[in-house]
Amino acid sequence: ARQAYIDRNPKSFARHQEASQAMPGGNTRTTLHNAPFPLTVVRGEGCRLWDADGHEYIDVLGEYTAGIYGHSHPVIRAAIDRALDHGWNYAGRNAYEGELARLIVDRIPSIDLVRFTNSGTEGNVMALAGAKVFAQRAGRAKATKVMVFHGGYHGGVLYFVSGGSPVNMPYDYVVAPYNDIEGTRALLAKHGEEIFAVLVEPMQGSHGCLPGDPDFLRALRDETRARGITLIFDEVMTSRLSPGGLQARLGIVPDMTTLGKYIGGGMSFGAFGGRREIMELFDPTKPDSLPHAGTFNNNVLTMAAGVAGYGEVYTPDVADALNARGDRIRDRLNAICAKNDVAFQFSGIGSMMTAHATTRPIRTAADIASSNQDAKELFFFDMSAAGIWIARRGFAALNIMIGEAEADRFVSAVEEFVTARKALLQ
Ligand code: PMP
Repeated sequence: ARQAYIDRNPKSFARHQEASQAMPGGNTRTTLHNAPFPLTVVRGEGCRLWDADGHEYIDVLGEYTAGIYGHSHPVIRAAIDRALDHGWNYAGRNAYEGELARLIVDRIPSIDLVRFTNSGTEGNVMALAGAKVFAQRAGRAKATKVMVFHGGYHGGVLYFVSGGSPVNMPYDYVVAPYNDIEGTRALLAKHGEEIFAVLVEPMQGSHGCLPGDPDFLRALRDETRARGITLIFDEVMTSRLSPGGLQARLGIVPDMTTLGKYIGGGMSFGAFGGRREIMELFDPTKPDSLPHAGTFNNNVLTMAAGVAGYGEVYTPDVADALNARGDRIRDRLNAICAKNDVAFQFSGIGSMMTAHATTRPIRTAADIASSNQDAKELFFFDMSAAGIWIARRGFAALNIMIGEAEADRFVSAVEEFVTARKALLQ
């Protein structure tokens, strides 16, 4: 399968060789590297992508959740075109930012006030900065650490996957076991005084669509409230899982929430928001306010695309329909795996899912680690040959342009993989 991939993609290989002259490993985004080399995409339209060698793909990856609108959505395209007509570097407020902020405040339960950044990473860094100062001003002088979770991913400088070491993590941190209430309580009992924030994904996305157990997340809510610790939900990926984010679906309201990905209409985007008394720390009309600068925080193209995408295209009805469709597709995929009695399955919620080559139910990091990596690589190569664009790690995030026919093609490709590779999936 690997050799077939190499043989089928000579132009992508040549582009990769060229890029390697000027970028380490030919790469400027680690996530997009896969052995033996990543394909070069030259065009996207609707729910389809085309690579440099002319192959067509159904895009089920959806830019790791940022591409929820598919490619070149006409409403977003028109909004960007209109914005371009008026220029795009003002060094001034623009007509879109207040509207995008209001949409977010209206929909996400925990957000009274919001600030924009350029990426989800930056949103998390700023949320932590705010939470730390909030704790200090509340007299919690010893609180200088963050609690994060094994397998958590909060951006290029904030990740806690096994084997990886965080680059430039700006605070001391304590890593707790995800979905383990007692283990986490024990760490809070020991380090609670030192912790100013608990930063958690309500479903771990990059780690493999590992849903947070609602009891675990509720325990975090209760413990942090009792200890005066700021609970931050990283909903950079999961905010798409209901009109009000995964927090609304779970009925658990954190103190702060970070956002990113699709909310900027598919342009560079991030945000952090939360309770009024925390976010007011950033109010420049108040004494001793915290600075939060950034040339592109309100960049015109993102703000215009965001108002069109999040406001007009990904409406609450569309969100519900997309997630219901994701649930149906995942159910079909898992029924195929069960029928064929293979060690293969899909975890996730709504429009997000990840393939795992294991029979263990996906509840903890150990379950994810039990996945057969060779089988996952084979899955990636087979999907690529079948014209399905999916992450090397088996991650998919459906976009709204995928119709029934494309969903069926995805399901059939997985069925073919499962039946053809049955002997290897034991
Ligand atoms: N948090 C989560 C949960 C993410 O999945 C990501 C990106 N995959 C980030 C933060 C970082 O966002 P960005 O890549 O925009 O910096």
